[in-house]
Amino acid sequence: MQSAQNHIVCIEDEEDIQEIIAFNLERAGYKVSLAGDGAQGLALVQDCMPDLVLLDVMLPSMNGMQVCQQLKANSETAGVPIIMLSARSEEDDIVKGLTRGADDYITKPFSQAELMARIKVALRRKPQSNALCIKDVCLDPDLFTCKINNQVIKLTTTEFKLLQAMMQQPGRAFSREQLIQSALGEQTDVVDRNVDVHIRAIRKALGDDHNIIETVRGVGYRCGEG
Ligand code: CA
Repeated sequence: MQSAQNHIVCIEDEEDIQEIIAFNLERAGYKVSLAGDGAQGLALVQDCMPDLVLLDVMLPSMNGMQVCQQLKANSETAGVPIIMLSARSEEDDIVKGLTRGADDYITKPFSQAELMARIKVALRRKPQSNALCIKDVCLDPDLFTCKINNQVIKLTTTEFKLLQAMMQQPGRAFSREQLIQSALGEQTDVVDRNVDVHIRAIRKALGDDHNIIETVRGVGYRCGEG
C-alpha cells in the first residue's frame, strides 16, 4: 500500500505552471509537494525523499543546475530521478543539466500528456528498493532512511538496526539478546545494551505508529500490524 502513491516534488517559480502541474499530478494519483525556489526545493527533497523531482532551470536563489548537482552529489538523494524543465532558449543549460546527472528534460511549453508520459518512464527506471514497510512505516536499508507517510523520521544507528531486524521478520518474537545479536552483531561492548531504552525511543519516534512494535510478555518484542 505504502509504495502505491508515488511522491513528486515540483520545483518551479512560475505559479501558473506550478499550479497546472500539481493539478494534473494529483489527478493522476501522485502525491505532490511544491517549492518556489532552488534552495527551498533542495531542502524539501532532502527532507521528504520523493520518488521523482521536476526541476525548473531558471529559479531564484539557486538555479536548477546547482540544485541538480547538489542532489546528485549527495548519496542519499543521488538515486532520485530528476526531470529538468526548461525554456527552449536554455538548450545549453539542458546539456549541462544532463551532464550533471539529470535523468531527462522537457522543453517548455510542454503538454501535460507528455509530462505524464516522461514521469512514468523515469519512475520505471528507478532502481527497485529494498524498503520494508509495515502500516505507514517504511524503512529503507539502502538509503538508511525511515519514513512515516513519506516523512523522514530521525533514528540513531542502533535504533534503525533494531527496527530493521524486527521489520525483516514481521511476526517473529525476538528476545532482547536476539535483537542485540541480529541488529548489532559482535560489537555489543561499545553500544548501549539496554534494548528497552532503545525500543522506547523508537516507539516515540514512530508517533501514532508506535504500536507496530508489540511487547511479547516473557520474551521481548516483535513487529506487526499493531
Ligand atoms: Ca523559472
